[in-house]
Amino acid sequence: MTHLLPRRALLAAAPFVAAPSVLRAQTQARLLVIGGGFGGASAANFARRTYPWLEVTLVEPKRHFVTCPYGNLVLAGTRQIGQITHGYDGLRARGVRVVHDWASGIDPAARRVRLAGGETLTYDRLILSPGIALRWGAIEGYDEAASEIMPHGWVPGDGAQTLLLRRQLEEMPDGGVVGLAIPANPFRCPPGPYERISMIASYLKRHKPRSKILALDAKEAFSKQGLFQDGWAQLYPGMIEWVPANRDGRVTRVDARERVLETEFGTRHKVAVANVIPPQSAARIAIEAGLTDQSGWAPVNPLTFESRLAPGVHVVGDANIPGPMPKSGYVANSTAKQAVASAVALLRGEAPPEAVYFNTCYSHVGEDYGISIVGVFRPNAEGTAIAEVTGSGGVSPRGPLPEQRRLEALHADAWYESITKDMFA
Ligand SMILES: Cc1cc2nc3c(=O)[nH]c(=O)nc-3n(C[C@H](O)[C@H](O)[C@H](O)COP(=O)(O)OP(=O)(O)OC[C@H]3O[C@@H](n4cnc5c(N)ncnc54)[C@H](O)[C@@H]3O)c2cc1C
Repeated sequence: MTHLLPRRALLAAAPFVAAPSVLRAQTQARLLVIGGGFGGASAANFARRTYPWLEVTLVEPKRHFVTCPYGNLVLAGTRQIGQITHGYDGLRARGVRVVHDWASGIDPAARRVRLAGGETLTYDRLILSPGIALRWGAIEGYDEAASEIMPHGWVPGDGAQTLLLRRQLEEMPDGGVVGLAIPANPFRCPPGPYERISMIASYLKRHKPRSKILALDAKEAFSKQGLFQDGWAQLYPGMIEWVPANRDGRVTRVDARERVLETEFGTRHKVAVANVIPPQSAARIAIEAGLTDQSGWAPVNPLTFESRLAPGVHVVGDANIPGPMPKSGYVANSTAKQAVASAVALLRGEAPPEAVYFNTCYSHVGEDYGISIVGVFRPNAEGTAIAEVTGSGGVSPRGPLPEQRRLEALHADAWYESITKDMFA
């Protein structure tokens, strides 16, 4: 399939004496996207909308994508899984070729990707957004089999992990303890575990008010901590105990059959329901393709998101090392657009566009109680790292502000609506 540039763009490009590879980029260029989640779907939609002459192929094994955002509200019982499940027909209608398969190998030198089903795809530029892998065994006893008893709910897949955790909450007795194991940084969605605590508390308050939550944390501080703790004191007094690392909060071992969480200094906590969020790394395909360093994450150029280890491959979303930006869906969406625009510029032999990245992370603390953190980021002048724009960031104000909390819960709903439209066309 050949996509010709619009006449206006061709005229604009006329005085440019192009090398063959650049010329090819202007008339027919192949952008391959691996991963149809927050980074990948955003990239595919943005690429076709902004550069309709680009040939865009998206490789994603699942036919339906269940978002992590709002998964905690499914645990609370205020959303159904169907409300956070999205298909790929919109992207197809946009002109994206969607291939439901696993990418099983990347050859950056030959610009080729092998699929598990046997097909081989070639590309001019690759956008890779495969998300995270859970580091099975990083907590002793916590492997894939254990996650069927102690769900993580951190890579929702088809939603089964979220639904398992929800069912366990429904089945536990009133008066039981829900235990969470929360990892050290860096991990997917820094405020996510604390929104989860809040949403589990919201369910328990309504249905099992004698129950408790024990949150065992491998850190000593967390995102939006003051705001979360204010909300917990106001909405769920006496229900939540948060134990930081310096008070023996780090879980190092689990016994799934006995439903025991064991900490660094040997304290054994027997719980009714256990939600274990293990340490993480970039997804397997990024590691196997040699795109990650010893940290387990992929180093990238802060302007283009091109891998520092493999030219022609732009790694976006949670799999990369994002400097001070959080591993969030919003950041995956924002940086995916810069990666696509940079890929196109480089194919045209032009300089990548100036970059600015945005993040807003909303969290639900109660049903009509939302809080948020905001940041704006740019590559530094040397182009070596990303820095937060001075004076740009902020969090919701503290204090008893019911109207502000109610509005932020509504803003969160609007954010979810608009970002999922921006991903799935
Ligand atoms: C409970 C929870 C709540 C959250 N809430 C928020 C929130 O409110 N706001 C926010 O901004 N962020 C939130 N996040 C974070 C957000 O979900 C992630 O940051 C975001 O999903 C990262 O996007 P990604 O593209 O890197 O990965 P994903 O969105 O996970 O997409 C990766 C995709 O790649 C596919 N894939 C993997 N390997 C391959 C392969 N080999 N071949 C082909 N495809 C492959 C996967 O099937 C998957 O569909 C939350 C996360 C959690 C866990």
